[in-house]
Amino acid sequence: MKRLTIFVLLAHLLACSTEAQQKKFPVMKTEAEWKKQLTEQQYYVARKEETESPFNNAYHDNHEKGVYTCIGCGQLLFASDTKFESGTGWPSFFKPANNKAVEEHRDQKFGMVRREVHCSRCGSHLGHVFEDGPKPTGLRYCMNSASLQFAKKLNSRNLM
Ligand SMILES: [Zn+2]
Repeated sequence: MKRLTIFVLLAHLLACSTEAQQKKFPVMKTEAEWKKQLTEQQYYVARKEETESPFNNAYHDNHEKGVYTCIGCGQLLFASDTKFESGTGWPSFFKPANNKAVEEHRDQKFGMVRREVHCSRCGSHLGHVFEDGPKPTGLRYCMNSASLQFAKKLNSRNLM
């Protein structure tokens, strides 16, 4: 009986700590498949929630008109007309392309409570959202270039 209680407690603890990774997404791949598809940096940022270096990334200073899609599944995430200069060295947007594109998760790593942002279709980590952005939303989606793919035009695969 006592052993069973401990087992249930442990199972519960484990379930809580791996909640984010175990969530089901429309696009699910094995670690091996992700590693094959992504570059090493893309894999560590998008799948292991690491953060790339500020300024030394592809899109922080990109001013071209176009769209930003998910590196993991190609879903449309952000459009260039919502991108702004945040001065942080990461591509920053005041809102996602639509309200279903991204999901949030409470991130308590490093002793801070932050709002982690990931792709709603494949769960790839994108960055964090902060409440010090410009009008009209007041939000700052601070994204990693490694999780995004810029294109001047959207192709049909991004609209699925
Ligand atoms: Zn995705």
